[in-house]
Amino acid sequence: MAVMQEKELLCKEWLKKPKKLLINGKWVEPKSGKYFKVYNPATEELLAEVAEAGKEDVDMAVKAARQAFEDGRFHRKMTAAQRARCLYKLADLIEQHADELAELETLDNGKPINESKYVDVPATVETFRYYAGWTTKLEGETINANNNFFTYTLREPIGVVGQIIPWNFPMLMMAWKWGPALACGNSVVLKPAEQTPLSALRIGELALEAGFPEGVINIVTGLGPDSTGEFLANHDDVDKIAFTGEDKTGQKIVQASIKTLKRVSLELGGKAPNIVFADADIDAAVKGAITGIFFNQGQVCCAGSRLFLEKPIHDEFMSKLLDRVGKMRQGSGLDETTQIGPQVSKEQQERILSYVDIAQKEGATLACGGVQPEEHKKGYFVKPTIFTNVKNDMRIAQEEVFGPVLAVIPFEGLDDVSEQANKVRFGLSGAVWTRDVKKAHKFASHIKAGTIWVNCYNVFDPAVPFGGYKMSGYGRELGKHSIELYSNIKSVWVNIGD
Ligand code: ADP
Repeated sequence: MAVMQEKELLCKEWLKKPKKLLINGKWVEPKSGKYFKVYNPATEELLAEVAEAGKEDVDMAVKAARQAFEDGRFHRKMTAAQRARCLYKLADLIEQHADELAELETLDNGKPINESKYVDVPATVETFRYYAGWTTKLEGETINANNNFFTYTLREPIGVVGQIIPWNFPMLMMAWKWGPALACGNSVVLKPAEQTPLSALRIGELALEAGFPEGVINIVTGLGPDSTGEFLANHDDVDKIAFTGEDKTGQKIVQASIKTLKRVSLELGGKAPNIVFADADIDAAVKGAITGIFFNQGQVCCAGSRLFLEKPIHDEFMSKLLDRVGKMRQGSGLDETTQIGPQVSKEQQERILSYVDIAQKEGATLACGGVQPEEHKKGYFVKPTIFTNVKNDMRIAQEEVFGPVLAVIPFEGLDDVSEQANKVRFGLSGAVWTRDVKKAHKFASHIKAGTIWVNCYNVFDPAVPFGGYKMSGYGRELGKHSIELYSNIKSVWVNIGD
């Protein structure tokens, strides 16, 4: 593996370049003079040192975005079709550099290369294309309220948008944020996660090539608390913050928004119920349970981390599940045969392993995993982990672990599981496996969550909205709903009375 990494890295030369801030169309050294280190989670080796934007740097980025917005270079002075072309061009450039970007994402985040290549990169491209399409379809309306007035609405961009994103899907989260914001004509200041800033920096270069006007796109890398993220969230001249991350950070973002009443949209954590009824296609549900919890090493906010099994099929299901999980190939993400890579950081690995202790102390039974694998003592690996005999009120069933840890809870019938599934403070997603159409629809309407999958899991499309109920946040990303997050409606009254 080490040989392959050294000999064949497509991004080897790029990695050596200084990692600066993108402000006003130029890559600049941070005024803070500070840099932070980024590691390869599969090897624990240093990948790059990246600029940490201080207060002054964030201020400059916001000023550049403000200037770009106020002079209208990306909305009033540009046609919607020209704006669309920038987004289409960016999508094309990402596609042209797909292999390099997939490799970079895997190096930085740890995820299997087959996921970076066949999920993250294409989904990023399609998200940009989808929103490029919206650019030319934004409309206001005329309203026949009063014959003495001609009344219409304008859909306008909000202004300067701060976007703070996490490390689990670095480039895809960037596309979810940039796509609709730019389609509407806003200026953006992006703060990537400190664990995984590299693909954003590379895509920032491609964005300059794509022809976005100076200042429309700015990237400030850095940390969260007392650093870049907090400075951006607190900045008085930012009109909106879009945030994806932990619920506790989301609360801080809301608090920071109060002074200037910034708009805020939040996509936070989850503790999704994945429910299998006895009448389900069991083999399909076993595969769905695996995708649900082990995709991206379990570092997915909509992960199916609570698996509810109807009692009559519990034992058969578990034996099939354990058999399959036991055969999963764990290793460096760069290895094409890898199905499960390392966690993103030492901190995450430790946090996950601490939940293994918590669950055991609570009385859950460790059915597999729960440790760092013997064969991977270097790198932040955690073996796929399953707990059985879990009760829904245990911490392992209520708190977001954000790792490859599945809590299996047996249940008896629809009423029992509906109640348990909703007894959680999150509401991002849920799934049900059944051949009974009535049961499926009943469940879909009953569960308090923003996305319900029936006989499938982790299916996404840029056209389909995604977001949370309860502590999983507010605002819907993707689809036309994200356009609402990034535009203002203005009503215009024209007196045409006698
Ligand atoms: P995680 O614990 O999974 O890393 P976080 O919510 O801490 O999730 O991080 C998500 C993003 O929020 C990252 O880009 C991080 O730097 C940023 N962040 C963390 N704390 C703050 C904060 N207090 N204010 C603004 N941004 C923050």
